[in-house]
Amino acid sequence: MSLKQSPCKDEIIAEAKRLGFYKIGFAKVRSVEKASASQYADWISVGCHGEMSYLDRYHDVRNNPQQLLPSAKTIIVCAASYYPAKKQSIELPQIATYALGRDYHEVLRERLMLLADFVGGETRVCVDTAPLRERYWAVQAGVGFVGRNSQLIIPDAGSYFFLGEILTSIEFPADTPLTQSCLECGRCVDSCPGNAIIGNGAIDARRCLSYLTIEYKGDFPEGFSLGNRLYGCDECQAVCPHNSTPIFTSIPDFEPSDELLSLDKKTISELTPELFSMIFRHSAIKRTKLMGLLRNLKALD
Ligand code: SF4
Ligand code: SF4
Repeated sequence: MSLKQSPCKDEIIAEAKRLGFYKIGFAKVRSVEKASASQYADWISVGCHGEMSYLDRYHDVRNNPQQLLPSAKTIIVCAASYYPAKKQSIELPQIATYALGRDYHEVLRERLMLLADFVGGETRVCVDTAPLRERYWAVQAGVGFVGRNSQLIIPDAGSYFFLGEILTSIEFPADTPLTQSCLECGRCVDSCPGNAIIGNGAIDARRCLSYLTIEYKGDFPEGFSLGNRLYGCDECQAVCPHNSTPIFTSIPDFEPSDELLSLDKKTISELTPELFSMIFRHSAIKRTKLMGLLRNLKALD
């Protein structure tokens, strides 16, 4: 039996900040509220998840995080900014800001594992892979609120953040859920190139360029245009007033490499499978594979 005493919330927050996280919140582990679970089920039932069939699995787990860790008492939600100091020239095929640096699954998992060790107890780390309603838990943990663009918005800091969670068997006092809502200015709705924002913080993925350039595996119809968006889309975040002064990342891994910053149409069109693997080995962009990237390239203006 370990005699190690668990740190208190303030000590965990201080350690999380030392590891590069910007905001941390604590929520009690329990079932997802019925209204939110139904909203998610309705979104799935009308097919808004497109071909992301994994979103239509493990609903029992998604609605009860205790199924991810039976001893879990607390969920610690950690948000890390990914907004880099260096960005692409707007003349180049655009890559969504979150994908400019090293793959967040790798980066956040490493840091959350260190934090989980610090927290103690039985723990499970989740970074966008487990069936967990992460924005829901971020709201419950007082980290932010969900905007009309479906992004988790942190008050006075915006939405250019990754979320990661630690489930722990230790019971910590829960933070107060955020009841704030976004400014509802409608700029995200008006500027969405796919007309994909359908309200209540929901997106119809089938019309969203982020989904179409990354998750969708089929061909685009003749004449379909992505504008200059090669991988993902930042539009509904870029126009949001909550992002007028983004918080820069303190995690060096999220800064883009010079190689990525210089990718132009010609270089991309000449990528071989070997070069693609070399450049994107540690990048979220590997998800689309070379074939997907070349398909997207053909649909640029
Ligand atoms: S752009 Fe306006 S409506 Fe959209 S999320 Fe931001 S504040 Fe809300
Ligand atoms: S990512 Fe782009 S296409 Fe998708 S909802 Fe936002 S603005 Fe629309």
